[in-house]
Amino acid sequence: MDNNRQLTPAEQRRKEVFDAKCEEMYEKGYTKSDLTFSVTKANMYAVIIMLPFLIGFMVWFFVVNLNRLSFHYGLIDFLILIVCMVLLTIIHELIHGITWAAFANRHFKSIEFGVVWKMLTPYCTCSDTLTKLQYIIGAAMPTIIVGIIPAIIAIYCNHFLLFLVFWVLIAGGGGDALIILKILQHRSKGKECVYLDHPYECGVVVFEKDS
Ligand SMILES: [Zn+2]
Repeated sequence: MDNNRQLTPAEQRRKEVFDAKCEEMYEKGYTKSDLTFSVTKANMYAVIIMLPFLIGFMVWFFVVNLNRLSFHYGLIDFLILIVCMVLLTIIHELIHGITWAAFANRHFKSIEFGVVWKMLTPYCTCSDTLTKLQYIIGAAMPTIIVGIIPAIIAIYCNHFLLFLVFWVLIAGGGGDALIILKILQHRSKGKECVYLDHPYECGVVVFEKDS
């Protein structure tokens, strides 16, 4: 973890809310474990974890469309492609927010959207605790809805450009997949476990206690 990184005002504010929440949980008898990555490590692992899926989807496209391949695209098509990717990246974050808001105690009041301007990366974060399944559903939902499902449709419609858009969106789900994997790998120390987004690192913390 990079402890020297200067927090943005939004991160600093979220850290204070997070610290207060941690105190509240300690008082209730929970212990805390970090399931986080620094942003640099997350980006590297995210690529590695998605590579088999990305290769698999590409092979799938070419196997299905082998006898009917056509690539007649112009500059305008590629401009549309880039605009679509930007819009869908925003929709990706909105889907995280909507799904987690459905589960969170304070619903949309717990959800915050923002942009890490240094890396031009939009994000969505939830300041309420969630169960393991709720967290995982919210983390996976965007890549399923604006990634996997439309990519499969594009494969069977033989539309390479659309396929490429959603293929990139699947790649963009690498960070989420990484967090899900980390949650699934964690050996639970208690019967009661709740998950909370980390205020500025990539990942979550888990609070556990024996009921
Ligand atoms: Zn995401």
